[in-house]
Amino acid sequence: DEVLVEVKNLKKYFRVGKNAILKAVDDLNLYIRKGETLGMVGESGCGKTTAGRTILGIYSPTDGEVLFEGKNVHKLSGREKKEYTKEAQIIFQDPYASLNPRMTVGDIIAEGIDIHGIYTGKERLERVYELLRMVGLNKEHANRFPHEFSGGQRQRIGIARALAVEPKFIVCDEPISALDVSIQAQIVNMLIKFQRELGLTYLFIAHDLAMVKHISDRVAVMYLGVNVELAESFELYKNPLHPYTQALLSAIPIPDPEVEKKRQRIMLEGEVPSPINPPVGCRFKARCKHAKPICGELNPQLKEVSPGHYVACHLY
Ligand code: SF4
Repeated sequence: DEVLVEVKNLKKYFRVGKNAILKAVDDLNLYIRKGETLGMVGESGCGKTTAGRTILGIYSPTDGEVLFEGKNVHKLSGREKKEYTKEAQIIFQDPYASLNPRMTVGDIIAEGIDIHGIYTGKERLERVYELLRMVGLNKEHANRFPHEFSGGQRQRIGIARALAVEPKFIVCDEPISALDVSIQAQIVNMLIKFQRELGLTYLFIAHDLAMVKHISDRVAVMYLGVNVELAESFELYKNPLHPYTQALLSAIPIPDPEVEKKRQRIMLEGEVPSPINPPVGCRFKARCKHAKPICGELNPQLKEVSPGHYVACHLY
């Protein structure tokens, strides 16, 4: 399958204070195939949002590269860069904070259309109406303001804005985390529908595995700036290998009470260590029940243990 996005040895560090360096993303390697959804999961501070923004070119990397259709997105010429800001869009977690409260919904949706000069006048308005219809709103909504809408409706506006410029790739940065559970499935189903109809490719970021389950073709699990496991969704949920993934999965309730009763919860103890001084060796070792002496010395590298299933852990 054709690869759309390729991330190679990506590092993004931030300087904090005088001497400290926050290693938000530390040597990330992955690829996203055209038309698929790669789920990216981890607790806050694991680097997933920073990774998404660096892939979009919003941040420049400390090291490593991001290729989009084979081209390094951080080394594009002015014209190519503008094209990339059209082809690669973002949907934010908090649709309220990301929508300008003083702009009408129509103008918000048309922002990209205006920046890239795609349509003007009547065509522009028709396109806004079409986008509103696509996300289940209607043309009367174009003249209203974001505060007049519910959280779920605001996320639909965020989706319409991202779709307006006909992107190829969308980073969905926790698009359902702030929504009621009843609304989450609607938004996920809408994203799946647009993916099929429009041939979109998604990087879908979330903080737990339950949220990415129905939309992801493959899932990457992040811990403290590194990718600890990556596999096809089906494989990852059935056969999680990394102790961290196993703990995350055991926290998802199973609807069948019989199965739920027999199941063992793996409680994660302790806090996520600070990415400012990440521990030597495996970053998960302080919370891992299987830690061995080597885990404190050597940083486990991501290894392919069965076709397409990668894990970074000394147990394998
Ligand atoms: Fe646990 Fe060691 Fe594997 Fe890290 S490398 S997850 S500490 S067993």
